[in-house]
Amino acid sequence: MIPLSSPDITNVERRAVLSILETDRLSLGPKAKEFEKRIAAIAKRKYAVTANSGTAALHLIIRALGIGKGDEVITTPFSFIASANCIVYEGAKPVFVDIEEQTFTIDPATTEKQITPRTKAILIVDVFGHPADWNPLLEIAERHRLKVIEDSAEALGSSYRGKPCGSFGVASTFSFYPNKQITTGEGGVVVTDDPDIAELCQSMANQGRKAQGGTWLEHVRIGFNYRLPEIPCALGIAQLSRLEKIVQKRTRVARWYTERLKEVPELELPVVALGVKMSWFVYVVRLSEKYTVLQRDRVIAFMAEKGIQCGTYFSPIHLQPPYRKMFGYRGGEFPVTERVGSRTIALPFFNNLSEKEIDTVVNILKQALAYVS
Ligand SMILES: *Cc1c(COP(=O)(O)O)cnc(C)c1O
Repeated sequence: MIPLSSPDITNVERRAVLSILETDRLSLGPKAKEFEKRIAAIAKRKYAVTANSGTAALHLIIRALGIGKGDEVITTPFSFIASANCIVYEGAKPVFVDIEEQTFTIDPATTEKQITPRTKAILIVDVFGHPADWNPLLEIAERHRLKVIEDSAEALGSSYRGKPCGSFGVASTFSFYPNKQITTGEGGVVVTDDPDIAELCQSMANQGRKAQGGTWLEHVRIGFNYRLPEIPCALGIAQLSRLEKIVQKRTRVARWYTERLKEVPELELPVVALGVKMSWFVYVVRLSEKYTVLQRDRVIAFMAEKGIQCGTYFSPIHLQPPYRKMFGYRGGEFPVTERVGSRTIALPFFNNLSEKEIDTVVNILKQALAYVS
């Protein structure tokens, strides 16, 4: 069996986790502080606030920016559902904009057309670790005085024209779910240069306690329990110190795939735009236009039968039942998203995937393509 994703945990990391159990600090301790400092440095940010998931981190930002009922937030339907759900949590409306054909990130030109007097922010996703086209997007946001939120959950270690992903929004997030570039089991973080956003997020993640100097049972606002404990933070710190190596491994796996698949006429391979460094969240190929969604699903089923686990990133958010029901979205509204979403196949992709395993995946993929044609 070759899984879609598989964690890469070293003995150093195992010991880092165990060492926390020797202490009397299991939450709200020094490891969270240290992890925050290191993440902030990587994203070239002043502040970082850990949370117990990437979703929680996104929710904190929406709340910290005061986005709520009656507000609209422009975002992409081609993403993991959490990037739109965080807007819905606060009663605001996600207004979707279609994606660019090549990079799958939000289309700047259409983004500007969707701005209304109710638009409060643009939530931009660095999809599959590929940075959005930040320069035109930031210019549009500035011209219309809109806040930019960056969902860089999939893009730790990526950069756009020399600037790291996670440095573009007024606040940005990373996720540390097991299939992300580094993992804490579950976990996430908000990074920002704005001291007020940082303080608010820290307070709200900790039951609305004061960020500094309050007492345990004093709650200055309504908060949540979004704290990330010391054990995952210790794992995160140890993983983070290997980030450069991890990105190298992922880049090598991606290259092995590309070398083997670039001559396959039925496939379009991932594109890396000029000026982009990719940290590779997943390796997603796309079947050519002549394939239907049923054929795509048969390719995936064929591979599963041969022990190769593949995924279908992404199923468009606007077509998920709650979005159809709440906002009246229908099929056909975002043609690029729908076209891409019905033809993608995410191949097994993780740090320690071997060249031999990649040969196996590629051979079975070729058989599957022949089988469904
Ligand atoms: C993983 C992911 C999230 C959510 O992160 P969790 O840690 O799983 O809550 C949000 N947005 C995107 C684009 C993601 O890939």
